[in-house]
Amino acid sequence: MKSNFNKPFTQQEAIDEATIERVSALLRGGRLHRYNTLEGEISEAAQLEKEYATYQEARYCLACSSGGYALAVALRAAGLKPGDTVLANAYTLAPVPGAIHNAGGIPLFVEIDDAWHIDVVDLQQKAEVSGARFLMLSHMRGHIADMDRIVAICKAHQITIVEDCAHTMGARWNGIRSGNFGHVAAFSAQTYKHINSGEGGLLTTDDPVIAARAIIMSGSYMLYGSHGAAPDEAVFAQVKLETPNYSGRMDNMRAAILRGQLQSLDDNVRRWNERYRVLETRLSNSTAIDVTERRQNEEFVGSSIQFRPRLAVSGFEPLIANCLARGVDIKWFGAEQPKAFTSRYDSWRYLGEQEPLPQTLEVLSRTCDIRVPLTFEPADCKQVADIIAQEVEELQSAFAMTGRDESELSLEPDSQN
Ligand SMILES: *Cc1c(COP(=O)(O)O)cnc(C)c1O
Repeated sequence: MKSNFNKPFTQQEAIDEATIERVSALLRGGRLHRYNTLEGEISEAAQLEKEYATYQEARYCLACSSGGYALAVALRAAGLKPGDTVLANAYTLAPVPGAIHNAGGIPLFVEIDDAWHIDVVDLQQKAEVSGARFLMLSHMRGHIADMDRIVAICKAHQITIVEDCAHTMGARWNGIRSGNFGHVAAFSAQTYKHINSGEGGLLTTDDPVIAARAIIMSGSYMLYGSHGAAPDEAVFAQVKLETPNYSGRMDNMRAAILRGQLQSLDDNVRRWNERYRVLETRLSNSTAIDVTERRQNEEFVGSSIQFRPRLAVSGFEPLIANCLARGVDIKWFGAEQPKAFTSRYDSWRYLGEQEPLPQTLEVLSRTCDIRVPLTFEPADCKQVADIIAQEVEELQSAFAMTGRDESELSLEPDSQN
């Protein structure tokens, strides 16, 4: 008798009581807008900026309306002009190309390697031939590329790096926080990210001009002086009349929610990784599944896990259906049609014809992905992994028996690690 899993993959943890109290007090006070403060009062949004800058080990921080908004503002504040080429890894979520498009940039997608990082060889080549001045680097699903090599390539070609840290808040590479390698970074506080206020974004940078421009762009009017982690007045004086207001502020309620969550972020990182290791161990115990080992110098946040079933591509649809029937919601980035949150670069048609990226398509055609919500206990993760392993193994033997896909199966390389 097969067991079913019955917890939802989309359930977040409750907001803690102290935060509920603080938000209630804000609601009772009625001053929800970040610039609506009494004499001497520091808004929740400004306090969040100060606290997040400290956490992130960055000089400046802007709280804004979403991660995608922070990405678009980061590009504009870093000097992107309409029509500029922006290099970007092809494996990412739709708000990333959307932010490039929104800022007036033209994405030039770069291949990914077998472990879901941007491919440094393709990056090097495209940096050389394209003359691009920007790289939008998405640390997709928390996989941080070899940042020494990426920074070196970008330095050599005077490319400004914008880091999309939607999946790496709290992560480090070689001891440095993701987000501190490039010129400016964006984080998301949307429901499925590492801190959750439903919607929300954070931008961090050490560059005072980028910070001042981003703050004005976010809709500070001339009230930028009340920001929590902002450069000096002299920097604003240079840019304030040259910078548009693209209204996208964060309100005090969301900021209060995030301030509460920031306190438990490091503990939650530990809890995510505990769950990740349970999934990783069980999945890699199956000879039918490949799990890529995480690299030593990467301190990642295991809020999702990627794996490759050793099945022919035609086995993926049945695998996903069989797992879903048992309560396990797997995402597959190889599907021809975009589904829910999942899409592939070739479905972003508004960008026009893209150069084909066969390596990316090949990697994604075998990549499965699941969320790791903190509402799962480690034992739940074990059950989820058991179900996946059973279903992959069952399909694998079914395929082997028909012989139909033998040829396809034998085409699968032995190890992708
Ligand atoms: C969620 C996400 C974003 C955008 O964040 P929003 O706050 O939803 O706009 C950007 N990049 C990646 C990889 C994401 O997952």
